[in-house]
Amino acid sequence: MKYSIAIDGPAGAGKSTVAKLAAKRLGIPYLDTGAMYRATAVACKRHGIDVTDWEAVRAFLPQLKLEVRYLDSGEQRMLADGEDITHLLRTEDISQGASLVSMIPEVRDALVELQRDVAHRQAVIMDGRDICTNVLSDTPHKFFITASAEERANRRVKQLVEQGQPADYETILADIIRRDRQDSERAYMPLVCKEDTVKIDTTNLTIDEAVEALLQGVCE
Ligand code: C5P
Repeated sequence: MKYSIAIDGPAGAGKSTVAKLAAKRLGIPYLDTGAMYRATAVACKRHGIDVTDWEAVRAFLPQLKLEVRYLDSGEQRMLADGEDITHLLRTEDISQGASLVSMIPEVRDALVELQRDVAHRQAVIMDGRDICTNVLSDTPHKFFITASAEERANRRVKQLVEQGQPADYETILADIIRRDRQDSERAYMPLVCKEDTVKIDTTNLTIDEAVEALLQGVCE
């Protein structure tokens, strides 16, 4: 692969599932940038920093020591202060914290620098909210993966039920809609789909069909 592949889209649209499978098929690494915002939210929480207090977060940034590591299996792990915190990233509380902390321009700039470092070394497949529009805006391979909010909430409920966790559809749908709004209405680097980006709506697609749509787009 000469060029990296950029994927943006709202929460729960299947971006990471599609990206991981496509990365395997293409033999290139996958970088989940959402995990970096989530790790930032976890680090703030551990240091008792309120993510809505922009000044406090800015003051904390020089101490934030985030690292992305890959296991031999290709699985991405997030480290903060040298400790693997990957198991702490996927809670509703941290989803909301990541969305709030991602509004802060200095946080975005610091994480975008790390993301570009990874992409400078090799072609990668990267997903997030500003990958097509900012991080990898030079790549010809840009995709926007989306699905209706209701379908995304249904998928999340199914996932939680499978994990034996409580899941209330209405609460989950409200969280998704709130996060969509925060991500697409923020002032700095909001989530948008521009005309140079191929849109893949996964509402009525299987995972395999979505992967094929992406790979076909890469080959065109
Ligand atoms: O993709 P994921 O749901 O894990 O991302 C968590 C949050 O991190 C998103 O809701 C979004 O606010 C933020 N994010 C971002 N830019 C990215 C990736 C994630 O603002 N490139």
